[in-house]
Amino acid sequence: MIAGNNKYHGGNIIRNKSFWMLSISVVALCWTIVVGKHVNETVIDMTHNLSVTSPLWGGLPEFKFNIIVRGRMPGGFWLEGNTFETPDHAGTHLDAPSHYVEGAWRTQEIPVEKLVGPGVIINVTDKVLSDPDYRVVTSDIHEWEKKYGRIPENAIVIMNSGWQYKFPDRNAVFNTEDPDNRSSYHFPGWHEDAVAWLIENRDINILGVDTPSIDYGQSFKHLVHIILGQNEIPAAENVANLDNVPESGCTVYVGVIKLYDGSAGPARIFAINSGAEYGARAFLFTTLAFVFFLLLMICVG
Ligand SMILES: [Zn+2]
Repeated sequence: MIAGNNKYHGGNIIRNKSFWMLSISVVALCWTIVVGKHVNETVIDMTHNLSVTSPLWGGLPEFKFNIIVRGRMPGGFWLEGNTFETPDHAGTHLDAPSHYVEGAWRTQEIPVEKLVGPGVIINVTDKVLSDPDYRVVTSDIHEWEKKYGRIPENAIVIMNSGWQYKFPDRNAVFNTEDPDNRSSYHFPGWHEDAVAWLIENRDINILGVDTPSIDYGQSFKHLVHIILGQNEIPAAENVANLDNVPESGCTVYVGVIKLYDGSAGPARIFAINSGAEYGARAFLFTTLAFVFFLLLMICVG
C-alpha cells in the first residue's frame, strides 16, 4: 500500500516535470516566433555628409550653405534655419533614368517601390587595389551568386570598391591631381556587359557604386548610364559605409528627395539588417528542443 502510494507520487512528479518542460518549451517557441525575427535588427547608414566639402565633378557650380538664423531669440528660445543650393548630382545621390536618356523618368517620377529592395553588395576591393580603372564584370556577379545564391528579385546591387575611405578628399575621390579636368579621372565602376547581363537575366531595382559614377572614370561614352536609363533603372552613386553592410541578407532603402524635374537628387541611403538568419537559427533550435521535451514527456508519461 505504502510502496504503491510512493510509486503514484513519483509518477505525478515526473508528469509535473514534463508539464513544466512542455510549458517552458511552448513559451520559448512563441517568444522565438514573435521576438526572434527582430532580435539583432540594426540600421546601417550608407550616406556621406552633403556639405561644402562634398567632392563635385569638374564644371559643376559649388554647393552653397547659408545660415539665415542661428541664435537665441528675444522670446528666449533657440532658432536655427538655413538655405542650401546644390547640383542634383552631389554627395550620396540617385541618378534618375532621364540623366542620359531623353523621355525617361525624372527624379519625382521614379516609383517609390523602386527605392527599396534586398541589398546585394559585390566586393571588388582586391581587384581595385591593382587597377583603379577596374569595372565590375559578369564573373564578379557569378562569384557572389556562388556564395549567396541567386540575386533576389527587386535587388539593389552595389559595387564595394573600398572607395568610401577617400571621401571627402576631392583629388583622392577622382584619383587625379586635376579634378577640374574630367578626362583625368581614374576610379572604378560597372562594365556595360555585366549591366546588360543583370538586366537580361535578373530583376534589379537600382544599381549602385561607392564612386562618383556608375560608369568608370575613364568612360567617355557613358554606356552604363545609357543602358540603365533605357531600362528605367536609377543609379546610386557615392554610396558610403559598404564595409559595414552584409553582402547579402539586408534590405536597402534609397530615400532620394522628390525633386521635381530633377535628373538626380541627394539621397539618404541606409540598410536594415533584419537578423533574419539569427531568427531562423533560434527558431530551429527551439523547435528541436520542443520536440525533444515532447518525446520525453510521452516516454515517461
Ligand atoms: Zn550622378
